[in-house]
Amino acid sequence: MSLTFTRGSVIAVAMGLALSGTAQSQTAPYAAQQAAAGQLRDKALKGSIAFELVESLTTEVGARPAGSAAAHRASDWAVARFKALGYDKVTVETFPVPNWQRGIETAEVTVPYPQKLFITALGGSVATPPLGLSAQVVLFKRFDDMLAQPEGSLNGKIAIVTERIVRAQDGGGYGAGYRIRGLGAAEAAKRGAVGYMLRSLGTDSHRVPHTGSMTYDPAGTKIPAAALSNPDADLLEHMTDRAVPVTVKMIVTPTFGPDLEARTVVGEITGREKPEEIVVIGGHLDSWDLATGAIDDGAGVAITMATGKQILDRAERPRRTVRVVLWGAEEIFKAGAAFAKAHASEVDRHIIGSESDFGGGKVLKLALPAGLTDRAFAEALGRAVTPAGVLMERTPALGGGEDLMEINAMGMPVASLRQDGMDYFDWHHSPDDTLDKIKATDLDQAVAAWSAFTLMVADSAVEFRAPKTAAK
Ligand SMILES: [Zn+2]
Repeated sequence: MSLTFTRGSVIAVAMGLALSGTAQSQTAPYAAQQAAAGQLRDKALKGSIAFELVESLTTEVGARPAGSAAAHRASDWAVARFKALGYDKVTVETFPVPNWQRGIETAEVTVPYPQKLFITALGGSVATPPLGLSAQVVLFKRFDDMLAQPEGSLNGKIAIVTERIVRAQDGGGYGAGYRIRGLGAAEAAKRGAVGYMLRSLGTDSHRVPHTGSMTYDPAGTKIPAAALSNPDADLLEHMTDRAVPVTVKMIVTPTFGPDLEARTVVGEITGREKPEEIVVIGGHLDSWDLATGAIDDGAGVAITMATGKQILDRAERPRRTVRVVLWGAEEIFKAGAAFAKAHASEVDRHIIGSESDFGGGKVLKLALPAGLTDRAFAEALGRAVTPAGVLMERTPALGGGEDLMEINAMGMPVASLRQDGMDYFDWHHSPDDTLDKIKATDLDQAVAAWSAFTLMVADSAVEFRAPKTAAK
């Protein structure tokens, strides 16, 4: 698998080089755009403002869960920064989000080998009784093993799943393991469990748990749900391997309140010729509460704000409008629908979009929408990003980011700038998501890729919708 992938990539690079050697004169329509994109790319590679932005956001605001007072400070920060950077228009879009507040979270093995465990409640989890929930555990090393159990088989037990996610450069292991966190409590409750824990969806071996959202079956019983640190998942495997009953006591005390107001902040660079045509880039401003949200998603906020600044620093605005959107509730999946609703009347004028939400690593690949038929444009864009180490994907983008899912479903094409996420899930959603995990030079490379991409799509008349829907 990995050998095939590597060989395919080498061939693609070789073909790309061959094209760039022979097709220069035939792609003259985009030679000027390619050159301009190359200038922005090289400028970013020498240094951008991205690291300074994420340093500022993580230091001056820190953790900023959707709708919280800190999230409002983050939106104030974003408005002030957009204005200071010279964006043409700054707007704030508000929408309601659920109000879930983390409480105490502790766990311990009480029988047969009393020991402390390190856990964190999953976002949206209900509480245990204030004095805790004590029950014998049933441990499954694979999620499918739990799903194979009949209803009633976990009556009165705490179900624990210790399946590991696979470390992968593109984050595919997290995608495959997501259901263990998202659906695990609902599935355990269906089988009679009174509590649910999973091995954190993290690739690290630190004794810190990783949080994240989950959902209950609306018709089912709601049971408390928490993530164990990786070493504690190992510890419970060792205990249960001894075939003696193991009892765990867990206490999680999150609370629910009236809905809060989340805020998405939009910084606009108004197009010089076709201002009604919109290119959307951005990241999400909200974070989980356990850390300062440097990689998730201070990095994406910084990369795209800095990309806008690079475009603003040019002598003229691009032909089309660029909107840098900082979504206000990605972690609880609420910002995308609110954004699509707010812009429903102008979806047809949204030319293309892409979200940066995979940390501060280098951009390795760029995938364009399936509807693009202008190969000369794709080749010119490929030549503009290749010198920064970015390979043009030969297959179309599958998604443009969580916050663009709904507007993509309504017809806006999406692109994908795929970063190196090899280490991303070591820190994601855990107390370790802090600024020291970000390298300024990697962020600058990402800004270089995003700048070349954004300028070329905004300073052209290229259509990304499939031709039959592109007719006006
Ligand atoms: Zn994120």
